[in-house]
Amino acid sequence: MVDPVTLEKWDKEYFWHPFTQMKVYREEENLIFERGEGVYIYDVKGRKFIDAISSLWCNVHGHNHPELNRALIQQLEKVAHTTTLGSSNVPAILLAKKLVEISPKGLQKVFYSEDGAEAMEIALKLAYQYWKNKGENRKVFVTLSEAYHGDTLGAVSVGGINLFHGTYKDLLFETIKLPSPYLFCKEKYGKPCDECKEELLFMLESVLQSREDVVAVSLEAGIQAAAGMLPFPKGFLKGVRELTEKYNTLMIVDEVATGFGRTGTMFYCEQEGVSPDFMCLGKGITGGYLPLAATLTTDRVFDAFLGEFGELKHFYHGHTYTGNNLACAVALANLEVFEKEKTLQNLQPKIKHLTQRLEEFWELPKVGDVRQLGFMAGIELVKDREKGEKFPYGERTGFKVAYKCREKGVFLRPLGDVMVLMMPLVISIKDMDRVLDALKFSISQL
Ligand SMILES: *Cc1c(COP(=O)(O)O)cnc(C)c1O
Repeated sequence: MVDPVTLEKWDKEYFWHPFTQMKVYREEENLIFERGEGVYIYDVKGRKFIDAISSLWCNVHGHNHPELNRALIQQLEKVAHTTTLGSSNVPAILLAKKLVEISPKGLQKVFYSEDGAEAMEIALKLAYQYWKNKGENRKVFVTLSEAYHGDTLGAVSVGGINLFHGTYKDLLFETIKLPSPYLFCKEKYGKPCDECKEELLFMLESVLQSREDVVAVSLEAGIQAAAGMLPFPKGFLKGVRELTEKYNTLMIVDEVATGFGRTGTMFYCEQEGVSPDFMCLGKGITGGYLPLAATLTTDRVFDAFLGEFGELKHFYHGHTYTGNNLACAVALANLEVFEKEKTLQNLQPKIKHLTQRLEEFWELPKVGDVRQLGFMAGIELVKDREKGEKFPYGERTGFKVAYKCREKGVFLRPLGDVMVLMMPLVISIKDMDRVLDALKFSISQL
């Protein structure tokens, strides 16, 4: 065993962390996690935390779950990985069938990858090639400001968070960006509502009317999560679906954050009766165990790629670990646990409880906004609520609050000054209260 002090030293010496200013990281004391049990994670110094962000939004049934462990060990004793480029494996087949069964009607085919960003790249490339295979040359994507679909360049092209994406703008392909629904509604109407939904849809309709070269409209499902938990007006997703059908273009819905129960149903699309042309899944798909992602699509799209070998209509895309046996095995077990433990049923009272308790945060003067969709929530911190004045970015107010929460045994990672709550679906009401109490106290200390 390497002792914690040496580990910390080596961590700072060798490991470049994602989304992390390493100068600051190296000046601070950081958490090095060693094990987990249910909603708790333990660091190498033996400290215990509630994992209130589900280890970056992916854990579902808790850490170290016996059923998920068993599924992995059973598969491991058979084989860890065999290629799916022109051959197949058992768990990948079973999972594809299962995903088609539980996803919106119309989605019939599953293309695997490893991360949410790749699931998006695949949707973008499939959509683009779909029109090519059909003999049409289309090249522009319609997307939303403040969108986040991952960090590879295609996903960044259809993204819209300037802080993350601005640097690379010369490398990106053309898109038409409509306003972020929540920010647009807030500015104009105070909050998301029917009128602003209609206005947004009118803007989209004008674009689709005037351009015949739209490959697809791409957007997140129901909420722009990485932008700081910005929910759409109810019915917006459905309205977008109606327009993409009316104007004969494709729709890509990114359920990477919202999928697997996070909004109260297995997928958010269900809540608006939407069946898109592409649905991207990631994060919770393996219950937070292994990297796996999937792009689901329709027979209409799939069929456009069929042809004789020499016609070159097929999709020249794949990754070394596409459809990895271990990841698919644990993803199947994840779905079985949803059924066995009645995860979605048990989640409903927790969503209600979250709604009630979030009300309390309005009492705090440094809280500027409180937003929720299902079991996802964001609490925005402001310097002055009346004047709508934000804290300066460099002050890292969100992180300061998160560090205070750590002292109370709650592990959080904010998005700027938005405190994000993405608790594992399995969390108890008692542990939810611990998280909410710690957060409320920490914000009150500002
Ligand atoms: C996290 C996220 C992604 C990117 O997934 P990675 O696995 O990090 O590549 C894409 N879309 C949404 C909505 C996400 O929240």
